[in-house]
Amino acid sequence: MQKKWHLGIDDTDSQSGMCTTYLATQIVEFLILNDVKLLDFPKLIRLNPNIPYKTRGNGAISITFSAPENKINLLWNEFVRLTEELSDIQDKNTDPGLVLIKGDIPNSILNLYQRALFQVIPLDEVKRLLAEYESIRTHTVKSGRGLIGATSAIAANLINDYTYELIAYRDPKNNSHRLIDEPSVIEADQKNPLSFNNYDYEHKQVMIIPHGPDPVICGIRGETTSAIIKVWEEIKVAQTVKNVMIFRSNQHTQVHFPKEFSIEEIEPYTSVKVRGKVISEPKDFPGGHVIFSIESLNKRIAVAAYEPTKRFRKIIRELKESDEVLVMGGVRPESSEHPMTINLEEIQILQLSPQYKKITPKCPSCASSLTSSGKNQGFKCRKCSYSTSKKEYINTPIGRKIRCGIRYVIPICAQRHLTKPVSRDPALQFHIAEAIDFEQAFDSFLKRRPFITKA
Ligand code: ATP
Repeated sequence: MQKKWHLGIDDTDSQSGMCTTYLATQIVEFLILNDVKLLDFPKLIRLNPNIPYKTRGNGAISITFSAPENKINLLWNEFVRLTEELSDIQDKNTDPGLVLIKGDIPNSILNLYQRALFQVIPLDEVKRLLAEYESIRTHTVKSGRGLIGATSAIAANLINDYTYELIAYRDPKNNSHRLIDEPSVIEADQKNPLSFNNYDYEHKQVMIIPHGPDPVICGIRGETTSAIIKVWEEIKVAQTVKNVMIFRSNQHTQVHFPKEFSIEEIEPYTSVKVRGKVISEPKDFPGGHVIFSIESLNKRIAVAAYEPTKRFRKIIRELKESDEVLVMGGVRPESSEHPMTINLEEIQILQLSPQYKKITPKCPSCASSLTSSGKNQGFKCRKCSYSTSKKEYINTPIGRKIRCGIRYVIPICAQRHLTKPVSRDPALQFHIAEAIDFEQAFDSFLKRRPFITKA
C-alpha cells in the first residue's frame, strides 16, 4: 500500500561549493527513475535570514512523495548515499541533516516552521522533538545541525502564499563562468510580468545569476511555473546545462515577520517587526551607512540602512524626530563598535510628525523683509525703520517627501530571499489556479524539460 513520505534536507553545502537544491534535484531524478510518485514540487524553504552559520540564503529542502513501505529502505539508503556524495563534508561549517517522516506531520513539528522563520532554534530542541516519534528517520553527519532546517522545511506550510523558482545547473565539477546574455534577461523579464526580480533596473544588475562556486547557473522566480519556464526559454545561455528543476517556495512572501515585537523583546539574530518613534534623526556614517534610533515604552534601538541598500537610504534620510514608524529587519548583535541594531528590510511610516521652518516676518507697515537687529535683539525694517524688541519668527509647515501607507522596501539587489517585493502584491492572485493541479503542472514541466534544457 502506498504511504505518504516527507523528506527534509539541509546543511550540505559550503562557501566553496555544492548546493542543497542540486542534491534535491538529484534525489528527485532518482525518484522519477524509480517510478516514485511526487506529491508536490520539491520545496525550497528559506528560514530566518539572520542565522550566523548559514552559508548563503538559509535555504532548506523538503520533498513529498508516495511509496510503499517495503520500498522505503531502498529509497532512504539512496537518499543517504546521495547526501554523503553531494555534501561538502570537509568544510567545518557543513553539518548535514536528513529527516524522513511518514504520513501526517505531527503538530509539534508543524509549529517549528513558524518559529524557524524568525527565531534561532537550538539543535538540542529539534533532536528531542524528533526523538519523540519512533517512526521518524534521521541521518546526520557531524553535529547534524541541518536537522533544524530539514525538519522546518518539512513543516513549512505553503497554503496562503508561495512562489516558484526554476533553477538551472551546470556540472558541479565545472566552475567556469556563467554565460547568460544580459539583454535577453531584460527582454524576457519585461515580457513575463508573472516572473519577478530577474533584473534590478534601478541598479542595472542581472539578479538571476549567483556569484559563488556552486552548481547553479541561474534561478528564475515567479508566480506561476509557466511564467518561469517561459523566461528560461527566452533567455540566452551560452553554456552546457546539466539539469533544470522547479521548486515551490516561501521566497518573497515576507513570512519572516509574523508578529510585532516590543523593543525590549528583541534578541540578536532574529527577524523583527517593531514600531516606535524616531528619537534620533538619521545620520550618515563612514562606509555609506545611514543610522537612526527609535523608541517605544522607554526602550530604544538603533536602526540601519546599510550601504548595499543604495537609494533606499534617501528615504531613510527624510525621517525626522517624532515620526512614528514600523520597521522590519534582521537584528545584528551588539559589538564593541555598535549597539544592537536592526538591519532594515522595509519601513512603513505610521505618522509623520509636523515639521516647521522658521521664517522671518515681513514688515507690518511696508511689507518689506525684516532683518535682524543683532544678537539678542529684535528685527528691523531697513525701508521704514519699523523695529521689534524680540525676534518672533513665523513657524511654517514643511512638506514631507515620505508618506504614510507605503511599503518602502530595500531595492532588489539588496533584498533577502524572503523579502516581498512591492511588485508582488497585485500578482498574488495568479498562482492559485495553477496550484490546484500539481500533477498537471509537474507533468508539463517534465515533458518540456528536454527542450528547455539548453545543452
Ligand atoms: P544554501 O542557501 O546555500 O543552501 P544555507 O545558507 O542554507 O545554504 P546552510 O549551510 O544550510 O546554509 O546552514 C544553515 C544552518 O542553519 C543549517 O544547519 C540549518 O539547520 C540551520 N538553521 C536554519 N534555520 C535555523 C533557525 N531558525 N535556527 C537555528 N538554526 C537554523
